[in-house]
Amino acid sequence: MIKKRRYRLQRKKKVGNILKVFTLFIPVILAITVIRLNSSPSLASNTADQELSEITEYLDSLNREIDLVKKDLAYLRYVRRGEIGPGQGMFQVLDDMGISTVMSLAIVNTLTDTVEIVNHRVAEKFEALMDSTEPERVVSFSYKPNPSVEHRLKDDGSGEFVYQRIDHPTTIEHRIYEGVLEQGASLDQTLRAMEIPGSMVGVVNGILQCKISFRTDARAGDRFKVLLRERFFQDSIRIESHVLYAHYNGVRAGTHEAYRYEDFDPKSSYTAHYTREGEALIYSGLRYPLDRLHITSPYGMRRHPITGVRSMHWGVDYRAATGTPVYAVAEGVVVKSAYNRTNGNYIAVRHSDNYTSYYLHLHRRSVRRGQRVQSRQVIGTVGSTGLSTGPHLHFGFKRPNGSWMDPLKKRMIATPKLEGERLVRLNDQIAEIDTFLDSLSTEQPSILAQKKEN
Ligand SMILES: [Zn+2]
Repeated sequence: MIKKRRYRLQRKKKVGNILKVFTLFIPVILAITVIRLNSSPSLASNTADQELSEITEYLDSLNREIDLVKKDLAYLRYVRRGEIGPGQGMFQVLDDMGISTVMSLAIVNTLTDTVEIVNHRVAEKFEALMDSTEPERVVSFSYKPNPSVEHRLKDDGSGEFVYQRIDHPTTIEHRIYEGVLEQGASLDQTLRAMEIPGSMVGVVNGILQCKISFRTDARAGDRFKVLLRERFFQDSIRIESHVLYAHYNGVRAGTHEAYRYEDFDPKSSYTAHYTREGEALIYSGLRYPLDRLHITSPYGMRRHPITGVRSMHWGVDYRAATGTPVYAVAEGVVVKSAYNRTNGNYIAVRHSDNYTSYYLHLHRRSVRRGQRVQSRQVIGTVGSTGLSTGPHLHFGFKRPNGSWMDPLKKRMIATPKLEGERLVRLNDQIAEIDTFLDSLSTEQPSILAQKKEN
């Protein structure tokens, strides 16, 4: 029964509907033509009878088509579409699509098993097919981060989603950008002037800022080189860019190089930029615990909302509705998932730099102690359990020595230096990038040189 319905659902496409509407008109036109051709007075009456029965037949077939279109329209009622808007997260969009929190969590948690859904970009598309009998239930779900990839989830009938990835062919281009800082121009301005995508300029700046203080040490005449790898769909739609290599050589800043390392596990936070020696160059590995941030009480001294006593507030309070998803701010291991009278339901995640993030007063906890979590993985929902005046998230950060710190001042969770098989892998990737740089530099002039020519 369910299978049958799904088959029909899959078959339904916009194009199919348009075609059907067209096929409605073709018989009508034919019928009119037939009547016109044969409307001379010399016709015998049996020909008229025949025509009448033909027309009746056409009308019947028309009615059948109309029924089909009606059914299509009925199905379309169960299709919900959404798209990431500026500053929006996936949960907001799913909420706008009318998908329940329970379903959203199921969808996001199934997706996070295989897909990196950390940084959503504007215009990423979602489509959900709702059950016609159980309006809350999502039968299938599609996530298109870009036109070339589709992540599809289908309820296999057991209430569990089955994941499928669909790829469309793309092309890859490598480009070298190199140049010299002119008097009064920053690296940022210079890179932008070379028409490097803005997000990539941010990445280059972020990597190099780990080593260079541009504000004090950049000088006119400093040289730089950037290697980008870009993926295109249908040759013109840029769907992915990565900085494979960045180089800076300055009078005062010295010489610095960064290589992109891609881990065995595509979702790993080890995938980042490193020096030749395997030292991480990560300017901010930290994400936010909620999609929407509205601070109601900052870190520091305050009068307690319940006890009225002036005391230290060891974290940041964010206002959010009960049920709002709470994310792990970085990859780590759940060291606490428990309940007590003060904290209510709370979770603590220890990160690779041995700092621990805390999430208090949760409505629900969705991770267990000992579990590994990814950055931006949903770990629970906002609530008002424990000593709390209303739904909010108390977010805290502890140093490795056990003392609390202001979470807003925590800038970076360092990925440890690459070691062992990861370091071997980094060296392989460095060798590949170096070969690439050599071949590109000798075979073609830099993009800057090309741009200067025209
Ligand atoms: Zn608090």
